[in-house]
Amino acid sequence: MATVVVSALPDTSMHPDISAQPGTQDTGVESASQGSYYARVALDVPLPGLFDYRSKTATAVGQRVIVPFGQRKLIGMVVALPETPAVAPEQLREVIAVLDDLPPMPPTWLALMEFASRYYQRPLGEVMMPALPPPLRKTSAYTGKLAAGGPVKRLERRLARRRLKPEDSAPSGVAGSVEAPTLNAEQRAAVERIAAVQGHGVVLVRGVTGSGKTEVYLHAARQVLERGLQVLFLVPEINLTPQLEQALRKRFARGEGEHDSLAVLHSGLSDGERLQAWLQAFNGKARMLLGTRLAITTPLPRLGLIIVDEEHDASYKQQDGLRYSARDLAVWRGHNQGVPVVLGSATPSLESWNHARQGRYACVTLAHRAREVALPTVRMVDTRRLRLEQGFSPHLLDAMQERLTAGEQVLVFINRRGYAPVLNCSSCGWVSQCPRCTAYTVLHRRVRGAHLQCHHCGGQAPVPRACPTCGDQDLKPMGRGTQRIEEFLGEWFPEARIARIDADSTRLKGSAERLFSQVHQGEVDILVGTQMVAKGHDFANLGLVGVLNADSMLFAQDFRAPERLFAQLMQVAGRAGRHRAGGEVILQTDYPEQPVYRALQRHDYEGFARYALEERESLGLPPFAYQALLVAESRELAQALQFLETARSLPEGSPQAYPTQGQVMLYDPVPLRVVRVANVERAQLLVESHSRPALQHFLAQWSHDLFQAGRDARVRYSLEVDPFEI
Ligand code: ADP
Ligand code: ZN
Ligand code: ZN
Repeated sequence: MATVVVSALPDTSMHPDISAQPGTQDTGVESASQGSYYARVALDVPLPGLFDYRSKTATAVGQRVIVPFGQRKLIGMVVALPETPAVAPEQLREVIAVLDDLPPMPPTWLALMEFASRYYQRPLGEVMMPALPPPLRKTSAYTGKLAAGGPVKRLERRLARRRLKPEDSAPSGVAGSVEAPTLNAEQRAAVERIAAVQGHGVVLVRGVTGSGKTEVYLHAARQVLERGLQVLFLVPEINLTPQLEQALRKRFARGEGEHDSLAVLHSGLSDGERLQAWLQAFNGKARMLLGTRLAITTPLPRLGLIIVDEEHDASYKQQDGLRYSARDLAVWRGHNQGVPVVLGSATPSLESWNHARQGRYACVTLAHRAREVALPTVRMVDTRRLRLEQGFSPHLLDAMQERLTAGEQVLVFINRRGYAPVLNCSSCGWVSQCPRCTAYTVLHRRVRGAHLQCHHCGGQAPVPRACPTCGDQDLKPMGRGTQRIEEFLGEWFPEARIARIDADSTRLKGSAERLFSQVHQGEVDILVGTQMVAKGHDFANLGLVGVLNADSMLFAQDFRAPERLFAQLMQVAGRAGRHRAGGEVILQTDYPEQPVYRALQRHDYEGFARYALEERESLGLPPFAYQALLVAESRELAQALQFLETARSLPEGSPQAYPTQGQVMLYDPVPLRVVRVANVERAQLLVESHSRPALQHFLAQWSHDLFQAGRDARVRYSLEVDPFEI
């Protein structure tokens, strides 16, 4: 690729123009010698650095261009206008087209991308381009007969046509503004605290389940909207919370064109829908943007407030590509744009809680439920000496019967989908295993028959008629998942209407919404579900929550496991008795004395957090240390481990390039717990430091050296900053 310029180090050639004022960027700098312009372009290619091109017409920073790259044509982003390119001008290739269907991306957006690139150690183009809606970064959307001026023009024409049709002009189901309930004293104090933030500041709203955090967000949002500013409202998952979208639509709907005032962004949208919502946010028509983690990179010209609901939720962490935390980016963005950020949760992440403890975040507490009902009582049933009926204690079954008789709903929580986690031969001990992964295969029931499924690679296999090892025909499912629980409850409570909500029952578009609405309408008596049911729902008639296999999460190796378990149990417990007193949670366990359960019983987040933070501090774990994780994948485990060994020794080769190495600890490479997935072996290397700047400095050099080392090794690798799971 002789004509493409790869600058040596992405960090040293970082586009100085990004922080400049928009006015100074809008004109291309003319080269004296050539009579043409130079553009430094970020491209979504797995190469570090930026790429210089020649252009006949002026371009601006933040503008997209179509450029040749090898044999391909790519859309890239102009990030700088160098006066002299990085190589001789005659070696440069020429920009094919300057796309002017959008104004240039604003400097605040470019700054956010630049930060994410630097912080997460990924080439700028790999950060920037995927942050745009797909039609804006695909050359196919601009070339060929069907392009017709590009996706933006096409969308505008389509919308104009639609507006002419009367049935579409009035958005249905939006019945004008709805009166907000009068805030209670705690809620008022929270709203006032948020309103008091001058410029940037983070307010952590810790509110027990049912304390009315949503009302706090909506009031805070209203104040900002009334000043003509935009609000970015992040939620972990949208399809699980249609209630919130409805509430927002009702509350912020106002007269003509009101459907423009709320835009919704999540990964379930079609490319066209995504482009439309993104454009509304970008051009300021949408005053409120509700979205999942991917919405954090949406440009908002008049941003006035960012809300991150359930800020502790793992869904905010992207698990492939750029492994960013949308919550952390939200805090940075708020800081950069000088706007307040609200983080809300019943169980804040220990990172956020620690910031609040140390005074970096303001903290307000909603200690009471908004509807003046008490939090549910949590009863622990010690299952060690009990005879269980398909995993149910007599206590739980009796309590369920009582609630059903009283006409209340019951939720049974079990964090395991499928029928049974493994199939087993009782004669020889054979267990069903995935041939491609170091994992058992899970038995799933279907309308017609059953099959075995691997939850790691997705592979499926028929259920063997007889044991593959000894030929015995008596194969038994071992353990229980949601399907088996549903089946058992159907036999035990033949009158009850049962619904199951898990990743399998909600695979089809709209099915989760339908199932949840059945629960809300009272068409379901018993709801069996995984963590999907724990999130956010305000069930009016749910009196009892039964928790089945919490113990299985108790001894996970990851140091965040107790924190996650506590948050999950608090969430699911919080579904009980939200509108009426007398809610109860029954938690079955073999370890009733575990601190996580004790704290849950007392609804004692602060006690749990104190205990957990002390432990983290004594062990030198986050938030008292900063981590990065290098994961290598290869056909051979030895190769993966070898690559990590090489990676570990890179700093020794050039110590002067790693001045902060003394403050950074590199652990031994180890195989992952599930070492093989889809015939690929995986190993990891943990990097840790007590200083974030020292770690960042180290990683900048290391990721550069890794790129060189990775070229020769037959491995794939990924570097994750602030890994969520280790
Ligand atoms: P959280 O998100 O904190 O778990 P929600 O926002 O779902 O709680 O609110 C719980 C319930 O309390 C909802 O039914 C909501 O309508 C109701 N609610 C909220 N604020 C008030 C208030 N000030 N007065 C009466 N009811 C309220
Ligand atoms: Zn056997
Ligand atoms: Zn598998």
